[in-house]
Amino acid sequence: MALGTPNHHGIGYLQKAKMLNVEMLGKTFGGFHAVKNCSFEIKAGSITGLIGPNGAGKSTTFNMIAGEEVPTSGKIIFEGENVAGLPGHKLFHKGIVRTFQIPHEFKRLTVLENLMVVPPSQPGENILSNFMARLAVGQREREVRERAEDALKFLSLWHVRDEFAGKLSGGQKKLLELGRTMMTDAKLVLLDEPGAGVNPSLMLEVRGMISRLRQERRYTFCIIEHDMDLIAALCDPIIVMAAGSVLTKGTMAEIRANQEVLEAYLGGDDA
Ligand code: ADP
Ligand code: MG
Repeated sequence: MALGTPNHHGIGYLQKAKMLNVEMLGKTFGGFHAVKNCSFEIKAGSITGLIGPNGAGKSTTFNMIAGEEVPTSGKIIFEGENVAGLPGHKLFHKGIVRTFQIPHEFKRLTVLENLMVVPPSQPGENILSNFMARLAVGQREREVRERAEDALKFLSLWHVRDEFAGKLSGGQKKLLELGRTMMTDAKLVLLDEPGAGVNPSLMLEVRGMISRLRQERRYTFCIIEHDMDLIAALCDPIIVMAAGSVLTKGTMAEIRANQEVLEAYLGGDDA
């Protein structure tokens, strides 16, 4: 895996192939169907929104795609391969990366250090001589540092690179979270409520960064978010879940005009 080459998906990548296909996915807890016959696709290069009332099964679906929950039934086809039930670290290496509602930065590491600790794989020390290993580690550290610095400049966090991450604002922590993603060879990035805990002005910045990461760095996103402004600004298509299944999908205008969607929200836990 080549570090320092974030544009690893090639030309003609935007909005073409299917990246992920969720087919008749199901998850039961005890006898309760949290997700049921859930099917949708995510196209490479898209920013796909996943919305729906509380309890619709959005987070459980993310958990299954990221390998944090094992599906009870159905398939998750990622780049042509059924990955349902694989553990999270395997999916991470395949390029599926999930970020969390609650930022989990290392508070007592600097912003730069927070990025430098992310890289997923270490060179295998065992097969190399000590001398070769030292060279490899030195080379690797340089590459990791360059990649971290590139991410911090991209995200406008360069000026706070030597601050402790614990001192960042809520919005800056979200940007750092995106930075951690940029340290991996992520293809599909699952964002669970990137807007939570972010003040409105920084919200615009987080939004803008997601959009630029898609355009300039070729990431594909799927976003769960309650803030409909963010969804409307970024996402196409938008998938609406209710009671564990997909209710409908479309553009924001199509979804706003859909009476069933309105009823699902009114009937949901968060009415
Ligand atoms: P959403 O993210 O759309 O709000 P969730 O996927 O978190 O919905 O939850 C869907 C349903 O599954 C909810 O009724 C929730 O209470 C239930 N649920 C989620 N995780 C568990 C679990 N680990 N054990 C039991 N029930 C769960
Ligand atoms: Mg949720």
